[in-house]
Amino acid sequence: MAAKCCYDQGDLSVPGITAAEEQQPIDVTRQAILQEVQLRHPIVYDNLDICALYKEKRLKQFSVAMLCIASNYFDIATEGFNNKCKAEYIDALSGLVLACDCNE
Ligand SMILES: [Zn+2]
Repeated sequence: MAAKCCYDQGDLSVPGITAAEEQQPIDVTRQAILQEVQLRHPIVYDNLDICALYKEKRLKQFSVAMLCIASNYFDIATEGFNNKCKAEYIDALSGLVLACDCNE
């Protein structure tokens, strides 16, 4: 009985490990970018105060295209992002704000 159970779990753990390994390099890359850019408050793109927009939860008002351009401006790697999914871009931009002085 117990042996069967372990065997099943062993099978399931393979995709789980793969997903975790894929996530790690992205986090490392993001940290490296934040250190490189040396962000100072306010984080501004094209007269838009990203810090204020994030705090007012207004980033979602922008189009995916606009969020994508802003992400690229801040050198955020958007490869593999779903270009119809705002949440991924908002998440990436939020990461910048969370690293900003105004969140200390
Ligand atoms: Zn800020």
